[in-house]
Amino acid sequence: MRVHLVNPSHKSFGTAVITPRWLFVLAAATPASFGEPNLVDETLRPVDPQQIQQGDVVGISVHTGNALRGYEIGKMARERGAYVVFGGIHATLYSEEALNLGGAHAVVKGDGDIVWAKVLADCSKGAPQALYLGGKIEAADFLPARWDLLPRKSYMWASVQTVRGCPKHCSFCSVWKTDGQRPRQRSTDSVVEEIVQLRRLGFRFIALADDNFYPVTLTDLHLATQQGNLHRLEELRALRAERFELMERLAMLPSDTVFFTQITMEAAEDPSFLEAMRKAHIKGALVGVESVTPEGLKDIYKDFNLAGDSLVERLRTFRRYGIHVLGSFIFGLPSDRPQTFEATAAVAQRAEITFAQFVMLTPFPGTVDFAKWEKAVELNSQNIGGVPITRPWLIPQERRPKMYWPHPVMTADEIRLRTQSVWDRFYSLKYIWQRSRFLKAPRARLTFILISKIYRQMYADTGIATDSARRRTANRWASWLAKPCRRLFQGTPMPDLVVPGSS
Ligand code: SF4
Repeated sequence: MRVHLVNPSHKSFGTAVITPRWLFVLAAATPASFGEPNLVDETLRPVDPQQIQQGDVVGISVHTGNALRGYEIGKMARERGAYVVFGGIHATLYSEEALNLGGAHAVVKGDGDIVWAKVLADCSKGAPQALYLGGKIEAADFLPARWDLLPRKSYMWASVQTVRGCPKHCSFCSVWKTDGQRPRQRSTDSVVEEIVQLRRLGFRFIALADDNFYPVTLTDLHLATQQGNLHRLEELRALRAERFELMERLAMLPSDTVFFTQITMEAAEDPSFLEAMRKAHIKGALVGVESVTPEGLKDIYKDFNLAGDSLVERLRTFRRYGIHVLGSFIFGLPSDRPQTFEATAAVAQRAEITFAQFVMLTPFPGTVDFAKWEKAVELNSQNIGGVPITRPWLIPQERRPKMYWPHPVMTADEIRLRTQSVWDRFYSLKYIWQRSRFLKAPRARLTFILISKIYRQMYADTGIATDSARRRTANRWASWLAKPCRRLFQGTPMPDLVVPGSS
């Protein structure tokens, strides 16, 4: 009985941007008695059905975007006589779907780190259960990934998780529901050891793939103090102290290390945190700006963000600490108007952010928005090719509608076209060149232009393009450029690097 772990993707590029961490974590969760698992990341190469034999176990993790491909693989593997097990966010939310459409014998809901061994034991006895409840395990039980199984020269960035869960409750996001609102922080030792292992392998760029790298804000501390809630205050201080301890150890790594993470903009009010990030080589952060108006922020329960000039100032603060911001903006919020697009483009420009993404409001499964939308849409029971419109991820890509949420004053097409024009403006050669000013060497500036253009091109496929010709062009671009691009990120292996700060 062989264990296969498959990360589904409709497109394979031979080279990928970031390591799908779950593959290497579940490999670590696979007991040695089952042998080395066969890891297949379809963003590199498609799964080879011939490798799957009767009695094997095929573990497939799906998010909403790749669920349809996951189900194709599940059915194929079941036909070949394997046990098929689904996990991941989407299978956690829709376990019935994986059982009915994906050929699953079993579905794991929640974290797989611990329960995976039980799933394999049951399959080896020929008696898998239909459902396994992995739950939300404690941080001490998170497994470090098996990076020794990583295929060489395949990825640009590695990924390490330091904290799971986010205390906020944004209406468009499922993280706080699936990963919980209590931050589960890994021990500094286990995080640093993994990072050193990756540097030994030659990874210089590492994503701290966290839900929110800043789980305790100054406001949280202030509120707990005001309420006289000593227990809570102690808890928050301990979490914060651990963050600083981690960053102190990261600061001891070779100076050419580059980390990227995801953070709320409240961190900009916390100079000591930003200074620690700067020293820790955290040079980039995805910041969910979402909307530049107070009304827009209210629409999505994100009023802890700022709008207008204060927003520009907050975003610039990151830059002052050497942290490049990838700002994420949402269009199509109920309070958005045609002039919102222009205002957003202007803020993105003034705020000195290095990269930006502009996405159209889409109700994702597991979110508050989705529940509201589903209720509203179910009333007119539309379907496309027999698939209810409330299950768009089951509709083939070329027929999938792009904007599902009716807007009070704009059509879906208008929102899409206006979104597209903000992308085109932000990534015009003129503005990219201006943004590249922080680099001195002409060659570095040209590289920055190339990366900006690739980033923009890749997005033509993921959110806003409706025509398949544009999607195909984007895929071709990505295939051609992926390899040379990977070399830009490659570092020199440091086999002798010691774990900094270890006793
Ligand atoms: S969008 Fe960001 S801040 Fe909001 S709940 Fe999700 S992870 Fe947390």
